[in-house]
Amino acid sequence: MNIQSVRGFKDWLPEDFIKYQYLINLARSILLTYNYKEIKIPILEKTELFVRSIGEFTDIVQKETYTFQDRNKEFVTLRPEATAGICRMIIEKGLFVNPKPLKFFTTGPMFRHERPQKGRLREFYQIDVELFGELNPYLEAETIYLAFEILKAPFNLKNYSEIYTLEINSLGCLKCRAEYKKELVKFLKENKDKLCHTCQERLEKNPLRVLDCKIKTCNDVIAKTPIITEYLCKECKIHFEKLKEIFNSIGIKYVENPRLVRGLDYYIRTIFEIKAKGLGAQDTVAAGGRYDYLLKELGGDYLPAIGFAIGVERWAISIFGDKKEKFLQELFPDIFLIVLEDELLIKGFQIAQFLRKYGLKCEINYEKKSLKAQLRNADKLLAKFVLILGEKEWKEKKALLKDMKKGVQEEIKFENLETLSYKIYNKIKNEL
Ligand SMILES: [Zn+2]
Ligand SMILES: [Zn+2]
Repeated sequence: MNIQSVRGFKDWLPEDFIKYQYLINLARSILLTYNYKEIKIPILEKTELFVRSIGEFTDIVQKETYTFQDRNKEFVTLRPEATAGICRMIIEKGLFVNPKPLKFFTTGPMFRHERPQKGRLREFYQIDVELFGELNPYLEAETIYLAFEILKAPFNLKNYSEIYTLEINSLGCLKCRAEYKKELVKFLKENKDKLCHTCQERLEKNPLRVLDCKIKTCNDVIAKTPIITEYLCKECKIHFEKLKEIFNSIGIKYVENPRLVRGLDYYIRTIFEIKAKGLGAQDTVAAGGRYDYLLKELGGDYLPAIGFAIGVERWAISIFGDKKEKFLQELFPDIFLIVLEDELLIKGFQIAQFLRKYGLKCEINYEKKSLKAQLRNADKLLAKFVLILGEKEWKEKKALLKDMKKGVQEEIKFENLETLSYKIYNKIKNEL
């Protein structure tokens, strides 16, 4: 019986993984200029962390987490997102005493048991960015600007607004949201019979989640619900207006979506999503918001915070589509060494080590095969150059270097192994 991978868990072959690495490295280089520090947090956390942060009655916690008892009968969960873990880390390590702002980012896999489809896997990769320090709309503007900076960085996209759309909303503070909730519940109760079974339950436990429902009949009700921005208190209103003012003055285009709520309980005030064209139903590439009270709720001090995550798979689809060529090049060996005599293998071995030390991607075959077979193999591996070491040539202090793309070959004369290695290195470096 063949064992297959778990549904929704993907193998990353080199031609896929190289794109992932390219994007992560690009994001990292930008994040460093914003003074974010890279960290790594565990993939597995106590289940309670997510119940208390994301919210017990959210879809993520109720239906989507990989939760199980470990061998000590303790409930643990594969992280469905990184924000909660970073908050836990700040509290556990006592980072409140550190100078503010605290700025962290991390990259790695997250896990949610959802129905797999285009742009949605059960193990998916995120770049997670979190900032702790101030309650100031400038920070939201800067954070969202940063998300765009990262998304458009590949190929230096100038027309990124043709690909990406920014949606923003304010969820208000604890005070004004409570007011809104009352009105929302009142309205939903009047329309309870039109809601799906899950939403009828949500209505009792977590009414805001109804706004997330994707079922048609619920959507008709949702379209008529009161909207939160009409219930914002004075401070929240000023905060949100200021954010929009900053966007307008720096030319960031946005769409206000008063029904944007996001599937997590911890957000307050500003939340946002960046959606991309061509992704179908799963079109959110980056999303985040403000979560000033999360640290306090998890047992720490009050510390305003804002963050976002980028879905790497979706980002890759939005950027590359099916374009792979640019990256495949990087997977090809720079040079393939063909050694025709057993006695020369040690020379080949040494030349390969030399070229690798100087950064060339080098491949060599130690098995005895004909020149023709080896050339065919080098061609299949898409090697850019081939070096041929034959007995007769070696005695005459010569070797053959073949440029596979141009189809031309030249004789390289040398004094010793080292001069040969240098000559090859220089020739290839000049051509690459
Ligand atoms: Zn408020
Ligand atoms: Zn529903």
